[in-house]
Amino acid sequence: LIQNEKSQRIINYFATSLAGSNSVEEILWDIAESCISEIGLEDAVVYMLDSEKKMLVQRAAYGENKAKERMIVNPISIPIGQGIVGSVAAEMKPIVVDDLASDSRYIVDDQIRRSELAVPIIYENRVIGVIDSEHTKASFFTDYHVKIFEAIASLAANKIMRIISQERTEKSELKYRSIFESIQDVYAEVDFETGKILEISPSIEPFSGFTRQEVIGQNLKSFYAPPGPPQTLSEALASKGKVNDFEVTLLDKGGFQRTVSWTASLVRDEDNKPTKIVGTMRDITERKQVEKALKESVHIKTNFVSNVSHELRTPMASILGFAGTILRDKDMPDDTKMDFVRIINEEAQRLTRLIENVLNISRMEAGTINYKLRSTQLEGIISEVIDSQIVLAQKKGVTLVSHVGKDLPAVMAAPDAISQMAVNLISNAIKFTESSGTAEVSLNAEKENLVFEVRDNGLGIPEADLSKIFDKFYRVEREKREDEGTGIGLSIVKEIVDKHNAKLEVESEVGKGTLFRILIPIMG
Ligand code: ADP
Repeated sequence: LIQNEKSQRIINYFATSLAGSNSVEEILWDIAESCISEIGLEDAVVYMLDSEKKMLVQRAAYGENKAKERMIVNPISIPIGQGIVGSVAAEMKPIVVDDLASDSRYIVDDQIRRSELAVPIIYENRVIGVIDSEHTKASFFTDYHVKIFEAIASLAANKIMRIISQERTEKSELKYRSIFESIQDVYAEVDFETGKILEISPSIEPFSGFTRQEVIGQNLKSFYAPPGPPQTLSEALASKGKVNDFEVTLLDKGGFQRTVSWTASLVRDEDNKPTKIVGTMRDITERKQVEKALKESVHIKTNFVSNVSHELRTPMASILGFAGTILRDKDMPDDTKMDFVRIINEEAQRLTRLIENVLNISRMEAGTINYKLRSTQLEGIISEVIDSQIVLAQKKGVTLVSHVGKDLPAVMAAPDAISQMAVNLISNAIKFTESSGTAEVSLNAEKENLVFEVRDNGLGIPEADLSKIFDKFYRVEREKREDEGTGIGLSIVKEIVDKHNAKLEVESEVGKGTLFRILIPIMG
């Protein structure tokens, strides 16, 4: 009866202390220690099964010779089936040995030990460990000890397995959480029916400016950039079940468009009804921009080559044509001949200008042009250019008007560059003005600047193109493409203006005309 009460007390004690344990280690040490203190044993060792190695490994031990700290130096491993402890694990039954000296299974550990009790810790019909105790007296262990050990083992088994499975879940949760938090792509789950965002990884924030909390619960549709994609993600998935690199444009928190690429699939319920969209999206905005720029630049260069070829061929054809005619026709009247030679001369000049521009653009790209600025009077240079353009204007039926001031102050300039700049602007004014229109050129001093203006009442430049006309190779796409060009004239103008520390302004209205104004600082 006394033993019964005592065992009840021990089991109660153990059950209570188990409730407060949070780790397997704590439980195992509690078993070893409480066995000693409550039951009055000499030692106790708890082994746990390492199922991979098929070994029982010492995990907690307590006894007179053992250290007081909860630590085992060089834990012993026992294969299943070997020794008393190994046999207990193999047979899944307690073993009591009254006299170790006569038990062949005993692996001698300590000469003075005479008897031993070992009890398996069993969970769902599998041994997970063994509790073992040895004693210096022979026949020390009784049924009473076996019962208590078994009760403790069964209580511990449940608690240990609960903790292990909880630890496993926590570990795998931790693993997935860290994956979830570290991926740059945005992971998302969307309700298929409603389009509501159910889950989204925190990487949504650097990407969109919205926090995870702001996005969860919102409808995916509300993020599509208007007017919305031709096919929504749900629509694409409904027809295909799975998408790869599916592109849509979304709006971020700042209202900017972001192109994303989805890899997603549908999750279905038991009735094969789609319930969820699960997938990742990647921000490909920058990649898209680079691709677009690349395409544009390839397109622009190809166009440039074909434009230059065309521009070369036209004057060349007329030079060859007129020169050939003169050569063949020995009786050609002198004034006709003079007219033809004038045309040849003019076309040759056009060719020279073009070649000059092309050469200049490549020098500009290579950065090898050296503009030697010196104190220069511009009136003479500008007047000369105007004179050289008169024939072109007359041919086109455009009136060319000159307002070049007299005795203007000098500026720091490279005469050839100024001349090229004026040619490009004036020839453009003539080229982009229809017959009976006017092109006006003026040069005057205004406060601290010399102001050079080229104004026409021609086609004008659409607002959207104005910022780009100074880009290399850029040409305004017009319906009638009779005015050919190469798109380099204005980029050269801009370069020359910059190198003269001058300012460039342009005003234009489609159908009304265009004004280019250049302000060159007068020498202090
Ligand atoms: P291009 O060789 O094609 O003339 P430019 O660099 O000189 O190349 O000009 C770029 C574009 O700007 C032209 O394609 C043309 O459409 C537009 N442009 C330039 N000057 C004028 C102007 N005076 N009036 C209308 N459009 C102009």
